[in-house]
Amino acid sequence: MNILITGGSGFIGSNLIRHILKNTEYQVINVDKLTYAGNLDSLNEFNGFDSYIFELADICNEKKMSELIDTYQPDKIMHLAAESHVDRSIDSPIDFINTNIVGTYVLLEVSKKYWMKLDDDKKNKFRFHHVSTDEVYGSLAEGDLFTESSPYKPSSPYSASKSSSDHLVRAWYLTYGLPILITNCSNNYGPYQFPEKLIPVIILNALNGKKLPIYGDGNQVRDWLYVEDHGIALLTVIEKGSIGETYNIGGSNEKTNLEVVKEVCEILDELMPSKLKDIISYVDLIEFVSDRPGHDVRYAIDASKINTDLNWYPSETFETGLRKTVEWYLANKEWCSRVLNGDYKYQRLGIKN
Ligand code: NAD
Repeated sequence: MNILITGGSGFIGSNLIRHILKNTEYQVINVDKLTYAGNLDSLNEFNGFDSYIFELADICNEKKMSELIDTYQPDKIMHLAAESHVDRSIDSPIDFINTNIVGTYVLLEVSKKYWMKLDDDKKNKFRFHHVSTDEVYGSLAEGDLFTESSPYKPSSPYSASKSSSDHLVRAWYLTYGLPILITNCSNNYGPYQFPEKLIPVIILNALNGKKLPIYGDGNQVRDWLYVEDHGIALLTVIEKGSIGETYNIGGSNEKTNLEVVKEVCEILDELMPSKLKDIISYVDLIEFVSDRPGHDVRYAIDASKINTDLNWYPSETFETGLRKTVEWYLANKEWCSRVLNGDYKYQRLGIKN
């Protein structure tokens, strides 16, 4: 079996591909445009493997996508390519409209044309799996959980673009019968995350003796999931999920951003104690900065459907996953400096102008 994965050089995609190549016999075709967030380095251990093919391409390019699908005749498509950073979506929404909405439309169209021409056996096995976020559901009140039937209420250009793509994917199922699956996952953390998201920013700023920026009061709650657990969930869904269904994926690890930052500091204090003058604990570097416009207060996932129907449960607790993550960043400083060779230099993004 072969799986065409879009966005496989990004954070979740590279962890997913690593998991697939190490644990299954599947061949993977990674289709990625290599934006600032995509890095060939993240999968260089598989260069030269027969089971791994990389194709540099933009999902918005219909001709190229059609050629790739005709060439590789994939049994499954897992669609992860996206612009994924909320702060960047505030500064430059057009990239999110193009990749997340138009790109998903292009991929649906070429997949539909391909799927319609398949013989019955291959047609029955084909799946189009769209990887999405819990942010489509908007902000939650205390005590509530997102279920698969929660109404869509996106707050940011990023979550609005992901909501649009979810709707398109469902429409291609209901209108054309394309066999789709959708997953909506909570905040991921782990190795190979571009250092613009909370956890890597905090680790790398602390190591460089820089301030640790916390948006607003830091009391925003997120439900954290270790990225490899997400990859295992995605593979479970593509293998066992029911056509047309949506599955919420989450780790039942609700933490405020401030709690997350303090836990990262505690692990760093133990593994790499500060040598900075006047800084006894990295917590002393915390600095509260202006909040993100439209910042959702709380996300939390009810994962009982994927738990019960597909028997998927996360393996890592937040404590074990976070320790692995900090250890990985400490051991991979070279990866961090290589991915930071573009324009981004930890500057504050996403302040409305
Ligand atoms: P990422 O930003 O780390 O990676 C995105 C990848 O997509 C990069 O490799 C990039 O080069 C590629 N890409 C971007 N535009 C492209 C285009 N036009 N054509 C081809 N490739 C393109 O993102 P991530 O955090 O790995 O997220 C992957 C998916 O999972 C996204 O769809 C995101 O919405 C979803 N998701 C992310 C999280 C999270 O916490 N990171 C949580 C839930 C869902």
